[in-house]
Amino acid sequence: EASALSQIGLAGLAVMGQNLALNIAEKGFPISVYNRTSSKVDETLHRAQSEGPFPLTGHYTPRDFVLSISRPRSVIILVKAGSPVDQTIAALSDHMDPGDTIIDGGNEWYENTERRIAQASERGLLYLGMGVSGGEDGARNGPSLMPGGSREAYNNIQHILSKVAAQVDDGPCVTYIGEGGSGNFVKMVHNGIEYGDMQLISEAYDVLKHVGGLSNAELAEIFADWNRGELESFLVEITSDIFRVKDDLAGGDLVDKILDKTGMKGTGKWTVQQAAELSVAAPTIAASLDCRYLSGLKEERERAAEVLEEAGMTVEIEGLRGKVDKKRLIDDVRQALYASKICSYAQGMNLLRAKSVEKGWGLNFGELARIWKGGCIIRAVFLDRIKKAYQRNPNLASLVVDPEFAREMVQRQAAWRRVVGLAIQAGISTPGMCASLAYFDTYRRARLPANLVQAQRDLFGAHTYERVDRPGAFHTEWTKLA
Ligand code: NAP
Repeated sequence: EASALSQIGLAGLAVMGQNLALNIAEKGFPISVYNRTSSKVDETLHRAQSEGPFPLTGHYTPRDFVLSISRPRSVIILVKAGSPVDQTIAALSDHMDPGDTIIDGGNEWYENTERRIAQASERGLLYLGMGVSGGEDGARNGPSLMPGGSREAYNNIQHILSKVAAQVDDGPCVTYIGEGGSGNFVKMVHNGIEYGDMQLISEAYDVLKHVGGLSNAELAEIFADWNRGELESFLVEITSDIFRVKDDLAGGDLVDKILDKTGMKGTGKWTVQQAAELSVAAPTIAASLDCRYLSGLKEERERAAEVLEEAGMTVEIEGLRGKVDKKRLIDDVRQALYASKICSYAQGMNLLRAKSVEKGWGLNFGELARIWKGGCIIRAVFLDRIKKAYQRNPNLASLVVDPEFAREMVQRQAAWRRVVGLAIQAGISTPGMCASLAYFDTYRRARLPANLVQAQRDLFGAHTYERVDRPGAFHTEWTKLA
């Protein structure tokens, strides 16, 4: 009977789905759950009892599941991205009615979402592609949600999403992102920015450890201290925690036992590919991706270390270390990390803007920064400042020219250059910090050596060039004049 129907449904009960379903139920919204493999339904029911009791019902067939939800139905799918989503949609949509909505909460490629929006609309179904960030804990206790697609579908569940999302001082971490696959695209760039943040933090660690000679205990203190200032963020906080964890298998600190090979699932690669497609420079994010690739070549790097060390490439870090003022190095690295981070966010935001223009999404960058303030992996105090920068000027060309950020960049550049310079001298690679600094130095220059590149292009390919002093396209017979 109608009173027993759930307000919403969720299919796909792995880590993310199970926790998001419990979160929704805990907020008082009766929810139906379903998973292809039935043991996960039982698991979820068990958790709803032991953590609750919460208003959650388990269903073992797509039909029972769909029919247990009140109309117009909203069904969240949280399965592996790609064809599992298509298979799940096929299984569920047979039982759905016009006006019902499918919400894919996975890390989906935005074009897949756009294809599914079109397919769904042929059957009168509404569709949302919703980025969900915050991992397991976010899903359970309040994620950052990035829903894009049908505005009507969003309106149908806005009251639920607003309660389920992380809550920050200026509201819930959810907003209607825009049409089409915009929600997935924004989540993708969020992940790209996350790659950049993690890379930059790892470089700060590397410099402090190898040039500064700092111990894990000292690093834990430093990151904890940074987390009380402008760098306050989830990633800096967990970094401090990581340095305190002991290895219960073999003794010592666990961080030192972890193999230096980074895993990845594809959103960082997509971000860099999209940046290239849209002719947007995103060197910090690209450097982070490259570093993950290089980290994967563990055996090759071990051989290279032998070859190039024998060839006398090892720089005397010990000598440098003796000359470094530890206290100043720590403060310099903090500033270098902050300045590098601003450049990375500027790249991510400019990529979003380029896509928004291409697709006509009308993205609101202040709102995006706001919904990233809580719940998600890149949550940080300084996102509030990014929000304000875009509120001051929605057409801001780049974060680094916002008056407040510009002042901070100028204040920090001496420290930033010292850190990068020292790292280069010591042979400690800092690709993210270097990429950010090169980006900054290139962007802030009114004249670049691109005039020479244009001359070369015109010489060998008659590609023509523009002049600084008069309009038009010019071509020169360079070799005749030389
Ligand atoms: P996952 O490991 O990506 O996927 C497992 C789920 O997909 C299971 O419920 C599984 O069902 C289902 N599935 C796989 N193939 C299927 C098929 N052909 N038909 C029907 N169901 C199928 O789960 P997850 O880690 O919870 O992630 C879900 C989504 O959220 C992914 O897109 C992921 O990228 C995204 N995400 C994950 C995180 C995270 O921290 N894990 C954070 C943000 C976003 P069975 O039990 O029947 O195998």
